[in-house]
Amino acid sequence: MNTDDTQAAGTAVHPQALAAFQRDIEGIACLTDAKDLRLKARDFYWYSPVLDEQLKDCRAEIVVQPDSEAQVLRVAAAAARHRLPLTVRGGGTGNYGQAVPLQGGIVLDMTRMNRVLEVAPGQVRAQAGARVEAVLDAARETGQQLMIYPSTMRIATVGGFIAGGSAGIGSVRHGILKESGTIRSIRVATIEASPRMLTLSGADIEKVHHAWGTNGIITELELGLVPAEPWLHCIALFPRYGDVVRFGAAVLASEIDVFLLSGVDRRFAPYYSELSAHFDGSADAMFALVNPRDEQKFFELAASLGGRRGLCKTEAEMAAAGLPPVHECAYNHTTLQALKTDRGWTYLQMVVPAPFDAGLIEAQMERYGDEMLMHHEFSRFAGAPRLSGLPLVRYLDAERLDEIMGELERDGCTVMNPHVYILEKSGRKEMSADQVAFKRQVDPLGLMNPGKTLATV
Ligand SMILES: Cc1cc2nc3c(=O)[nH]c(=O)nc-3n(C[C@H](O)[C@H](O)[C@H](O)COP(=O)(O)OP(=O)(O)OC[C@H]3O[C@@H](n4cnc5c(N)ncnc54)[C@H](O)[C@@H]3O)c2cc1C
Repeated sequence: MNTDDTQAAGTAVHPQALAAFQRDIEGIACLTDAKDLRLKARDFYWYSPVLDEQLKDCRAEIVVQPDSEAQVLRVAAAAARHRLPLTVRGGGTGNYGQAVPLQGGIVLDMTRMNRVLEVAPGQVRAQAGARVEAVLDAARETGQQLMIYPSTMRIATVGGFIAGGSAGIGSVRHGILKESGTIRSIRVATIEASPRMLTLSGADIEKVHHAWGTNGIITELELGLVPAEPWLHCIALFPRYGDVVRFGAAVLASEIDVFLLSGVDRRFAPYYSELSAHFDGSADAMFALVNPRDEQKFFELAASLGGRRGLCKTEAEMAAAGLPPVHECAYNHTTLQALKTDRGWTYLQMVVPAPFDAGLIEAQMERYGDEMLMHHEFSRFAGAPRLSGLPLVRYLDAERLDEIMGELERDGCTVMNPHVYILEKSGRKEMSADQVAFKRQVDPLGLMNPGKTLATV
C-alpha cells in the first residue's frame, strides 16, 4: 500500500551523550519537562489518522531554544560531537510530522530567533524564527507585502514556511514558492564539529527549500516584497460546484487581480458557522481576495457564469463584523475548520490534470458522494493555471485511502500523499543529486531530522 504502515523509529540516545551535550551548551535555554517534550514533538500530523498512530509517541530528550546564530553554532557543534539527532522546529504547523523527532535527541526550537532585521524596497530580511505575520506586518508598514504566505501565518515561522511549505495565499498571483522568486537568500548552519555558516542564493536555494530541515539549520532569510494591496475579502456563490471550477478558470484567464481563489462545495457550510449569513449551504462557493480595482469585474464575471455576490468586505470590515478573514477558509485551514467539529474527516492532496475540466470534478463528486467534500485551490505554476485539490475524505482505514488515491491517479490527478512522513514518499520533492551532495556537506553525520528523507549521507 502507498501509506507507510511502518512504525516511526524510537530514540537511540545514550543518557551519557545527552548529559555531555547539556554541559557543552550551558547557558542556552532548554526544556526537558515531559509536558514540553510532548508539545514540541507534535505538529498537525493528526489531520491524518494514519500518521497520528505512527507518530504520537515520538519524543526528543531535550528542546533547545537558541536566541542567536552564535548559540545555533554551539548547539550544532555539540550535536555533532555527541552524535545526537537534531530536528529543527518553527511554529510546528506542518501537516506531515515534518517537525517530529522520529529518533529522539534534540528539538531545536527557533522561535526565540524572531527578529525582523531590515525592510528595504523590494525585500525583507528576518531571522528564521520570526512569525510570518510579524514579517508581513513589518512589510505593510512600508507599503509592501510578502508575495506568498501560508494560512497559518499567525503561528508559522518564515524558516518553517521555506523549509516545510510549498505554496499558499498569493500563489494564484505569483506561482508556487519554488518559482516565485520570493526566496532571495538563505543563511544556513552546518552540523559538524566546527560548524560553518553558508549563504545560498539563486538556484542553490532549492537545496534547502522544502527539504524538511534535513539540509542545514536556516538562521536567516531574505524574502521578496511587492507593493501592498488592500485586498477585498469576497465570496461568490454558484448553483453547482462545477460552475465554481469554471469561474476559477475564467478568472485565471482574465486580467482580474486576485491574491486567493479557493473553491469549496456547499457541504462545507456547517463548518463555517461564523459565515452562515454569507454561505449558508444553499450554493457552492468561491472564497477570494480581490484587488478593489477589480471588484466589479470579478462579480460581473461570476454573474456571467450563473454566480452571485455572497460577501465583499475590507479586512477592517471583516474584523468589525466578527468574521474570519477568507484566508482562514482556504488551504489547510479549510480542513481545520471541518476537523474542529468532526474528527471523522481526513484529507487528500492532488493536482488536477490541466487544462482543468469541471466535468471530471463533477464525476468525482458523483463517484464519492458523501465520502468526499470538494475543495480546490487555484494557483499558477510555470505561468500556467494550476488546480490543486484538497478534498475532505471520510476516514475508514488506510486501505480505503490507498484505493481512493489509486482511483484519483487513474483520473489523471497527481496525488501528493499527506499520510506519509518521508519527504520523497509524499510526492512533493525528489532529492536531486545536487541536494544529496549538499546534504553530505552540511550534515555529514546524517543527524538532521533522521528518518524523514531517503537521501543518505
Ligand atoms: C491549518 C493549516 C494551514 C496550512 N496552510 C498552508 C499553506 O497555505 N501553505 C503551505 O505551504 N503550508 C500550509 N500549511 C503547512 C504549514 O503551516 C506551513 O508549511 C508552515 O509554513 C510551516 O511553518 P512552521 O514554522 O510551523 O514550521 P514547522 O512545522 O515547525 O516545520 C516545518 C518543517 O521545516 C523545518 N524547519 C523549521 N524551521 C527550520 C529552520 N529554521 N531551518 C531548517 N528547517 C526548519 C522543520 O524541521 C520541518 O521539517 C498549513 C498547515 C495547517 C495546519
